[in-house]
Amino acid sequence: MDETISVGIDIGATKTNVGLVTSSGKIIDSVRIPVQREASAEQFIETVCQAVTQLIGANQLTPADIVFYGVGVPGTADSRTGLVEYCPNLGWEDVPAGAIFKQYLGAEVMVAQDSRLAAWAECLLGAGQNYQSFICVAIGTGIGGGIIIARKIFDGALNTAGEIGHSVLQKNGRPCACGNHGCLERYSSGTGMIERALEAYPEKFVERPHQAETLFELAHAGDEDLLRLIRSMVEDLAIGIANAVSLLSPEAVIISGGLCTHEELIINPLRELVNQYGYHAWTRKRQLKIEQAQLGPAAPMIGAALLYKSR
Ligand SMILES: [Zn+2]
Repeated sequence: MDETISVGIDIGATKTNVGLVTSSGKIIDSVRIPVQREASAEQFIETVCQAVTQLIGANQLTPADIVFYGVGVPGTADSRTGLVEYCPNLGWEDVPAGAIFKQYLGAEVMVAQDSRLAAWAECLLGAGQNYQSFICVAIGTGIGGGIIIARKIFDGALNTAGEIGHSVLQKNGRPCACGNHGCLERYSSGTGMIERALEAYPEKFVERPHQAETLFELAHAGDEDLLRLIRSMVEDLAIGIANAVSLLSPEAVIISGGLCTHEELIINPLRELVNQYGYHAWTRKRQLKIEQAQLGPAAPMIGAALLYKSR
């Protein structure tokens, strides 16, 4: 058998996915465990490592069969040192996650930001396969980004490349969890969208779940007010993306995250609006591609398992 097996761990804000992934990106098996916010980083990592060990055993494998361990976190991590620098969703600051994982697993473990791993997975196996350079924008609870240049993950000198969600859209705007005001993700993430909809039309959400999906269901059913509101939020998103494209000049922008499946209400309008808000020197050629991601919610886990291919 030519295929090797590695472990991908995707630590999310509420759930952690652990999977056994082949070198060609096939998921052999995976488990999902809840994130314990009250636990210390060390206790939590220990729990994740127990799940990893169980998953390996349950598939009649031993640690000797695993060629690589990769971990994704919802925050800023230094892939060279394994240090999680800033991860507000988990309450982690300067946590040496790579070293703690290594202590429990007895092997080297690489750590990276989840949104960069999603971009990496799309690069290897998904919508980014045919591009040398692209930006992957994940629209979910927040807005995450991953930048691929010359088919490598771009971290940036400050290790914060891709933070499009925290680019400032509005001076003195809505407060963001990062401490700043007016960040793009406060306007156009799933959370930002439902918040704006609830403010504008509270009566439409009585006895309905306060989630972005509810907003999209009502819009799909033809609610004109909500269709206009979504259009306005997608305009904000397009401004953020157009600015990033002006700066980086990629071949494509790949939209991932829970809301990327709304082709009619998000992807198609973005195709028009990003060009509208972009700089004439690139928009006049109309060459920028805007694509829907292909790998779905497993992308960060797959990207984590295959992170060794970025070295
Ligand atoms: Zn922010």
